Parts: sequence; C-alpha cells; structure tokens
Amino acid sequence: MNIREISKEGKKLSIKKDNAWFMVMVGNSDTDVEALSGDLTSAVDIHMQYTKSVLIEGSAHADIVLRCVKCLRSFHKIVDTSFSVELEPYDVSAPARHAVAKTELDAEFYVNDEFDPEAVVFEQIMLNLPLYPLCNPSCKGLCTYCGINLNENPEHTCTKDKGLSPFKSQLGKIKI
Ligand SMILES: [Zn+2]
Ligand SMILES: [Zn+2]
Repeated sequence: MNIREISKEGKKLSIKKDNAWFMVMVGNSDTDVEALSGDLTSAVDIHMQYTKSVLIEGSAHADIVLRCVKCLRSFHKIVDTSFSVELEPYDVSAPARHAVAKTELDAEFYVNDEFDPEAVVFEQIMLNLPLYPLCNPSCKGLCTYCGINLNENPEHTCTKDKGLSPFKSQLGKIKI
C-alpha cells in the first residue's frame, strides 16, 4: 500500500487471509507452526501522522495449529489481539540515523512510501504465539525410551534396554 492511499480521515481495512497465505508468510523459519485453521481476520485503521509516520491500529483473530514441543502433538492456539504499530519513513540518504533508532527504540519503517498492512498483522499474530509451545502447561511429553505419549499413558514405565531404543537415537537428532 502506498501512503498516498491514506486520506486525512485515515483508511479502514478489513483483512481476511487463509492458510496458504499464512504458511508462505511463516516460511521455514518456525517449525512449531503447523497451520492456520480457518481464516485470519483483522480490522485495521490506518492514519498518517504529522511526522509522516504511519499509525496502524486494529485487532486480529486467528486460530493457529501449533506442535507441542514436548509430546509433538498438534493443538490449537486462539489469538485475539489488538495492537498499535507505528511505521516511520525510512530515509535512504541517512541510514545511520535509523541504525540507532532501530536498536534503541525498536522502531519499524516503511520504504519508498510503501508499506504492507498485512505483514504488520501477520507479525502481531506471531508475537502472540508462545516461544515454547505446550499443548498443556503440565504436558508430560513422550517416554524418552520408547516414544509413547505419557499424557495418554500416565502409568507407563520403560524398564529394559533403555540405551538401545531406536526412538531415543531419533530424538537425539531433533533440535528443540
Ligand atoms: Zn504436549
Ligand atoms: Zn517407554
């Protein structure tokens, strides 16, 4: 979107996105995110500030399918968030100024009068996802030796051949 599209009264956007779009945005960076269930919906209000900053305020809703880092099972995380994000104009002729701003104020920028409200919404959804996704705070995970789900088999114990399980050697390769 170009800042010229923002009138004095501001601009209202209603955003609706599906799983295909969401997974492209996620890319390969986050392996705990499996899918977007249903549509991501968002309503945003965009205003141009006197300072030439773009103010994006709104709310977003999404049902995200995450993988539990302990038991590897899928579970749903509902994100309902409201946000206010300010994008400053990036001055290509004075990048040094922004280098300081970026670290000290965590500022975000738009370049060449263009910005992407959908990317802002995506970022807000991601900020609301846990860094360490758990299906349940008390998830017991998997048996280290045989891989059985300990939530479903609370009485389970492995006694023999502990070092030789093929599952255990597989687990060692998964980076958590
Ligand atoms: Zn779990
Ligand atoms: Zn076991």
